[in-house]
Amino acid sequence: MSQESLEENLRKLQPLLKEFAAQPIQHCINGEAVASADGGTFSNHSPIDESIIGEVAAGNVDDIDKACRAAEEAFVSWASMAGKQRRDLLHAIADAIEANAESIALVESWDTGQPLRFMSKAAIRGAENYRFFADMAPNARNGLSLPAQHHMNYSVRQPIGPVGIITPWNTPFMLSTWKIAPALAAGCTVVHKPAEWSPCSASMLVKIMLDAGLPKGVVNTVQGIGEVAGKALTEHAAIKAIAFVGESRTGSEIMKQGAATLKRVHFELGGKNPVIVFDDADLDRALDAVIFMIYSLNGERCTSSSRLLIQKGIAGEFIECVKERVAKLKLGHPLNPATEVGPLIHEKHREKVASYFDIAQQEGANIAIGGSKAAFEGKGCFVEPTLFTNANNSMRIAQEEIFGPVLTAIEFEDEKEAIAIANGVNYGLAAYVWTGDAGRSIRLGRDLDAGMIWINSENNRHLPSPFGGMKASGIGRDGGDYSFDFYMETKNVCIATNNHSVPKLAKN
Ligand code: NAD
Repeated sequence: MSQESLEENLRKLQPLLKEFAAQPIQHCINGEAVASADGGTFSNHSPIDESIIGEVAAGNVDDIDKACRAAEEAFVSWASMAGKQRRDLLHAIADAIEANAESIALVESWDTGQPLRFMSKAAIRGAENYRFFADMAPNARNGLSLPAQHHMNYSVRQPIGPVGIITPWNTPFMLSTWKIAPALAAGCTVVHKPAEWSPCSASMLVKIMLDAGLPKGVVNTVQGIGEVAGKALTEHAAIKAIAFVGESRTGSEIMKQGAATLKRVHFELGGKNPVIVFDDADLDRALDAVIFMIYSLNGERCTSSSRLLIQKGIAGEFIECVKERVAKLKLGHPLNPATEVGPLIHEKHREKVASYFDIAQQEGANIAIGGSKAAFEGKGCFVEPTLFTNANNSMRIAQEEIFGPVLTAIEFEDEKEAIAIANGVNYGLAAYVWTGDAGRSIRLGRDLDAGMIWINSENNRHLPSPFGGMKASGIGRDGGDYSFDFYMETKNVCIATNNHSVPKLAKN
C-alpha cells in the first residue's frame, strides 16, 4: 500500500511543483505578487533529492519598506473593522485552508522533508488556529472594570499596529498560522518573513488569505534571507512589535536590531527539553511518548524531548526498549504515508546534526544506535535516528539543541537529582514527566524550570493555554488571551465619580 500511495502522492504533487518551477516565488505586497525591487532571487531545494524546486524573490530593505508601508496603510481600516466581520473573514480563511490541506501538506513535505503523516495534520492545525482566534476576535478589545473609591477605572485594549512575524523552517505552515491568526484577530496588520529554507507554504498561505477575502495590505509576505529581509523588518519604524520563532541566538540579534525603534518582542526559541521517567511510571506509555517526542517531525521540533532522564533502577531495561524501537523506525521518502523519519531540512543542518555524532564519542558517551548520515535510494539529507547513552549533563550533547532525531539518555538516582539535571541547562521550554505518584507530579510542576510541563502525556495542544519558554527558550506566551496581550496595547481610563478634592498649587 505504501509504495502505491507514494506514487499517488508524487503524481498529485507534480502540478503544484510545476507552478513553483515556472516562475520565482514572489513577495506579496499590498495584495500584489511582486518581484524584488532589485530583481534578486535565491534557489530553493528539496532535501529529499536536493533538486531545485524553484527560484525565490530575495527581499531587501526596499521590499520590506514597501510591505511595511502597505501594512501601515491597511491598519487604519483593519483595526476599526467590527470584530464580528474579522471573525467571519478568519473563518473563511480556515475553510480555504481545509479545502487546500492536501496540497499544502504535499508541498510542505517536499519543501521541508517532514513526513506527510505529520504534515497533513499540520495543515489542519493551521486551520484550527484561524478558527480559534476568529471566535476570540469580537471580544479582543475587552478589558477590566477596576472601581476605586471616587473613581471608575476601566481598561480597554487596542491593536498595537502593524507587526512583523518571522518564522522558522520546521513546520513552517502551522507556525505561521499560529502567529498570523491571533495578530489578525487582535486587529493588527502583518508583514511576514518566512524562513529561506522553506518558502513555499508561506506563499500558498498569503494567496489563500487574499482569495478568501482578506483586504489587500493586511498581510504582506516578503521572502528572503534573515540577515537582510528579516533584519530590515526588525528595524523598520512602522513595525510596532516582532513575533519571532527561531533560534535563541537569532532572538538575541533581533533584540539588538529592534532596540533603536523600541520594538516589543515575543520570542519562541530553542529547547533542550527533558523527559523524566521515574520507576513508578506506566513504562509502556512512557516509552511510546519518549519515542514519539524525539523521533517524530525528524526531531526538528522545539518541544522535542531530546534528553531522556531515566531512573537508575529501570535504566538498563528501559534504554534497551528505546533502542529496539529506534531500530524499527521507518526512515524513507516523506511522501510515503508509512514513513516515520524523513530527511533533515538542508545539507548544512545535516552537517550540524551529524557533527554531534563525533562530539558524543569525543565526550565519552556511547552511540547505542544510529550515529551516521543516511540516504534513501542514494539521496537526501538523512541521518539515522540516534540514541546516546552513558552521558552526563555537562556534555555538549546534553546541553546544546541538536534539532534532529537524536536522543541523549542520562541516568538519575532520585527526584532531587532529576530536577537538578532537568534544570541544569540554559533552555527552559518544555518538560515531560512520567510518574505514578500524584504528589511528585505536583512537586515537579512547581520545581521544573520550563514554560510548559506535561505530566504523563506527550505534547498535547490546547489553544487557550499559555505556550512559550523560560530562560533562553523565549520571552512571552502565546495562546488564548496571552496572544492578545502581545498584539494589543492595554489602556486604562479613569473617570471621577464625584467632585473629589483636586490638589491645588499656586492658588494664592
Ligand atoms: P533561525 O533563527 O535560523 O531562523 C528563523 C527565522 O529568522 C528565519 O526566517 C530567518 O530567516 C530569520 N532570521 C535569521 N537571522 C535574522 C536576523 N538577524 N534578523 C531577523 N530575522 C532573522 O531558526 P531556524 O533554524 O529557522 O529554526 C529552528 C529554531 O527554531 C530552533 O532553535 C527551534 O527550537 C526554534 N523553534 C522554536 C519554537 C518555539 O515555539 N519555541 C518553535 C519552532 C522552532
